[in-house]
Amino acid sequence: MTRTPLIAGNWKMNGLQPALEEAKAIAQAADSQDGAEVLLCPPATLLTDLARTLSGSRVKTGGQDCHAEESGAHTGDVSAEMLAGAGADYVIVGHSERRADHGEDDLTVKAKAKAARRAGLTPIICVGEKEAERAKGVHLDVIEMQLDGSTPKNLAGDEVVIAYEPVWAIGTGRTAEPQDIAEMHEFIRTRLRHIMGEEAEGVRILYGGSVKPGNAAEILGIDNVDGALVGGASLKAADFGPIIASAQSE
Ligand code: PEP
Repeated sequence: MTRTPLIAGNWKMNGLQPALEEAKAIAQAADSQDGAEVLLCPPATLLTDLARTLSGSRVKTGGQDCHAEESGAHTGDVSAEMLAGAGADYVIVGHSERRADHGEDDLTVKAKAKAARRAGLTPIICVGEKEAERAKGVHLDVIEMQLDGSTPKNLAGDEVVIAYEPVWAIGTGRTAEPQDIAEMHEFIRTRLRHIMGEEAEGVRILYGGSVKPGNAAEILGIDNVDGALVGGASLKAADFGPIIASAQSE
């Protein structure tokens, strides 16, 4: 099964208008190779402008979160339909920062993933264990629970992306060991087979957590790693460009 790698940038709460110039440089880097699909998820305030800036390039845009409802009395929230209207193709749901800062549980994440599909977006469902959970040896159980609880059933393999992001590796400069990434990604693939049958083969499973130009090629070369979700290193073309270039079609 061929899965085109996805290199996704999560700008988190970073980016004002000048960031659009950086996005143009990222688009140049992305357009000079064809190994991977490339995605930028800016803050919602930049989405429309970014989608316009990137139109004509290979780089797609996505949201960082969405509300489960289509519209209504939810001050400050943004629906999946609004993201789609602003030009998004993807939306990240269940990022560990949302799970921690906003108390999002697996049921909420699943509802958001379903909302994404309702709006025609591809959800990128994030899962990841905390450091203490890995130290206790319960990391596989934690991921199994998050996956089972957050992943809608009856999706085709190309309608959902999973991002495995060990919480202790996000923004810390630490990455999981290659053998641990391999173990976890294989485990996730197996678990997805339970949830969605043979469609699991088509699901891209991204690794996230301090992916940088210096470690991207090794991480992207691991079995069942179908791309990366990149935070800090997606803000600058000088970092994100080489990560994009590290991705080869399988
Ligand atoms: C992330 O935000 O999902 C992430 C992995 O961040 P960083 O690459 O900065 O660790």
